[in-house]
Amino acid sequence: MDPTTCRWFADGPIVSAVRGYAAGHMVAPSSAAIRRHVLAWFARERRDLPWRHTHDPWAVLVSEVMLQQTQASRIAERFPAFMVRFPTPRSMADASEADVLAAWSGLGYNRRALNLRRTARAVAADGWPQNVDGLQQLPGIGPYTARAVAALAFGQLVGAVDTNVRRWLIRRFDLADDATPARLQELADDLATARGRRIGAPEAASWMHASMEFGATVCAARRPHCEACPIARGCPSRLAARPVPVQRQPAFAGSARAARGALLRALVSAPGHALRLDSLPDIAPDPESILDGLERDGLAHRSGALARLGGGVAAGPPTTIEP
Ligand code: SF4
Repeated sequence: MDPTTCRWFADGPIVSAVRGYAAGHMVAPSSAAIRRHVLAWFARERRDLPWRHTHDPWAVLVSEVMLQQTQASRIAERFPAFMVRFPTPRSMADASEADVLAAWSGLGYNRRALNLRRTARAVAADGWPQNVDGLQQLPGIGPYTARAVAALAFGQLVGAVDTNVRRWLIRRFDLADDATPARLQELADDLATARGRRIGAPEAASWMHASMEFGATVCAARRPHCEACPIARGCPSRLAARPVPVQRQPAFAGSARAARGALLRALVSAPGHALRLDSLPDIAPDPESILDGLERDGLAHRSGALARLGGGVAAGPPTTIEP
């Protein structure tokens, strides 16, 4: 396709540059211009969040894992204290599962805490891999988290596609709602690398933050702020953005997840992180099956007449830490 016929490229001032790109001897103006505008917007409008001040891989990993499925404002309140409690992989590797789960309490999706501890133990023993492939070998780390840490901590020129990034890429580049992960990743990588321009580690990290923040706050899910958007020019979805479907979590209230949460919170608060089994019906309905599930996930275990926080001898394999 002649790119000058595409509506994203139809802005007059860049048409000649696009022709140059089509001839194979120029940087594509689309990704370069979009990247530049989003970075400039981020420099002006960025939220001052605690994990934005560090390139320490451990702090970056902790923040990324916390942010998955939990709101940034909530994490901003909890992240500093968590990092004081576990400032290094070694500090978490040496802690018990019960201590880690107690520190994580209230953040939800508690298996993330156990996976984080497994990763801490691996890093404390062998050090940090510094690229995506190596990071993905760590217990429980999937492609998204590996890419985020590679860019934010090690300055690698890779893109990461979370829910917010996926939404703005689909809208801005007029992709189908069911665009494949491979297509979205290709686009995110193209933007991250800026087509081979020389980029330092701080800018690599800034782009990762900017891309995620832009999707979260400007090209927002329910009401995109097209009027304040730095890349509105040429956007096919401008003032007409459709919702981008995402997988919804089932209702929390009254669910098994809610009962699991209640039981875990009770164990966290109990002296020695242990409760008598015969006291559990006061805390959650159907406590036997809830406790079975917690045991399978390594979050609690039975010990004589007690339920205890944390896995027993045999906890299952790690699940992948991903959004
Ligand atoms: S113009 Fe609107 S729909 Fe397009 S990228 Fe900006 S905020 Fe999203």
